[in-house]
This record gives sequence, structure tokens and C-alpha cells, in this order.
Amino acid sequence: MTTPLRAEQPAADRDLSLVIPVFNEEALLPELFRRLDGVLVPLGIGYEVILVDDGSQDATPALLRAQVARDPRYRALHFSRNFGHQAAVTAGIDHAAGRAIVILDADLQDPPELIPLLLARWREGFEVVYGVRTKRKENPFKRFGYFAFYRMLKRLTNVEIPLDAGDFALIDRRVAEVLRAMPERNRFVRGIRSWAGFRQTGLVYERDKRFAGEVKYTFAKLLRLALDGILSFSYVPLRLAVYLGLTVSASTFVLGIVFIIYHLAGGAAPWGWASTMVAILFMGGVQLLTLGFIGEYVSRIYDEVKQRPLYIVATREGF
Ligand code: UDP
Ligand code: MG
Repeated sequence: MTTPLRAEQPAADRDLSLVIPVFNEEALLPELFRRLDGVLVPLGIGYEVILVDDGSQDATPALLRAQVARDPRYRALHFSRNFGHQAAVTAGIDHAAGRAIVILDADLQDPPELIPLLLARWREGFEVVYGVRTKRKENPFKRFGYFAFYRMLKRLTNVEIPLDAGDFALIDRRVAEVLRAMPERNRFVRGIRSWAGFRQTGLVYERDKRFAGEVKYTFAKLLRLALDGILSFSYVPLRLAVYLGLTVSASTFVLGIVFIIYHLAGGAAPWGWASTMVAILFMGGVQLLTLGFIGEYVSRIYDEVKQRPLYIVATREGF
């Protein structure tokens, strides 16, 4: 992790930090700034907005630079390339100076108007206030995917990861320090946020449609995130080999006895091609599957061992 280079800031800046990952979002940035100002200025507290440009290829970097020049409360980090949403969130948290830190998407799916509500719960004494999505205005296929994923995650892990809670959340400075101290490379922020503990509560909200532009989370990125979530919080896939192995051995044992009885009863053995094929293919499938799972864990261990930085900041503005 690159060490956050943070200039001394006036105390007024330290009440609230917003962390916003941005990847090729030129179409919606003016609207984002307008909505943010509409919510943040009336709050009457010191705040900073940290925009993390995750290697954008469009006009995003220039638009962020202009905003930082226009308003000293805005800061920007520009990655050297695309490192992904979770890395961008991590970088933002690493650089945030506020006593409370709110993480939200740039596409206005998480309404900034909820920030005062998050702050209210935080002032009641909660260190983590996470958004819980009720209605998702997305296609049914994706909605089902999310629904199934969160329920599977709950079954497979011991950590109390709340259902339907994404990265949109307020975290207290103390939780941010915990996250910062966690060196893991395969980051599943909503998971480690739950894992950190402290007093946590949910805030139910309706997730809006993306304001403009295309979805930046490709299917491959989403799948990778889902795998990170399950593999970094569960050993169940590793134990699959044990369960499957036991099941197959036990059934083979029973089958063996059946064969013996059949033989003793004078039966010849006209067992054919089909049963052999089924047994071979079934075992081949089971072995490849469990080997594949082991491979997933090994590749993640390899990532951790290499100790490469999670992200590379090429330039910082406004810090
Ligand atoms: N994003 C990012 N890096 C990426 C992909 C997405 O920083 O590689 C940002 C994107 O600009 C947006 C947020 O992450 O602010 C969520 O992305 P998106 O809306 O595309 O995904 P969703 O979660 O809504 O499916
Ligand atoms: Mg979105």
C-alpha cells in the first residue's frame, strides 16, 4: 500500500470525508457535484470530497482537476491505471482525514441526500452505518444474481455480512484505521467492514438507476468480486473435497456390498459400459472441481505473498 501523503489540514476539514471511486464517468460528474453541493453545503460542517480516478480514459481526469481547482474541499487521486472499484475505495479511505467517512458511488445510485441520515445514526453512537438496498432498479437477471449471492455468502461464512448491503456506508475513523491496517490484497470491502465489528446498523434505502453512462462493473469484475467475497470469508469450498470424497466413498462401499450379495446369490456380472462411464466422469468432475477451488485459493495466496501495492497513485490534487 502506498503510504498516504497527507498535508496538514485545518481542523474544519476533518468532520466528514466522502470517498467516491470514479471510472470513466464524464457524463455524470457535473450532476454529481451539483447534488453533492446541494447536500453538503447546508450541513454546516467541515468536509472533504475525495474523488478517486481509477484510471479513467475519458474526460474524467480533467473534470476532476477542474473541480479541485474550483472548490478547495475537493481532492483527487489519479491511479496510474485501472485497479478496480475495491482498490479505489481502499485508496480513498487511506487518504481520508474525516472523523466520519462516507463511501458512495459516482453514478448517483446511492443518493447523496442520505448522507445527513447516515450522520445522524453515527452521532447516535454507531461506528458503521451501511446502506441496505430494498428495491434495485436493475434488470431482473442482475437482481437475481445479487439476491442469490448475498444469501449464499451468508450460508457459507461465519462473519455476519448483512444481506443486500453494498459499499455505500458511513464508517467511523476507528473503523477506517482497522481497514487501513488490513493488508489483504483481495479486498472485499463490505466483508472486512463487517468483520471489523464495532456497533453497526443498517439504513434501508431504494437504490436509484445510474444517472448516466454505462455500467463500469463488467460481468468478469462482478464475478471476481463475488469469488473474493466467498473465498476470503469461507473455507467451505476447500472442504468440498472432504464432503464429496466421503459421500463417494460411502456410496461406493455400499455398492461393493451390493455387488458381493449379487455375486453370492449367483448372479453373473453384466454391468455395462454406461455405469463405468458415469463413475469415471463423475469422479473426474468432482476432482477437477475441487482442484479448481484449491487453485482459486492458491492464486489468492500468491497475490498476498507477492505483496504488490493495492493501487498506484500517479498524481494527487488538492491534498
Ligand atoms: N468503478 C471504478 N472502477 C472500476 C469500475 C467501477 O472505480 O473498475 C466505479 C464507477 O465509476 C462507479 C462505481 O465504481 O462510481 C460503481 O460502478 P458501477 O456503477 O459501474 O457498478 P454497479 O455497482 O452499479 O453495478
Ligand atoms: Mg452503479
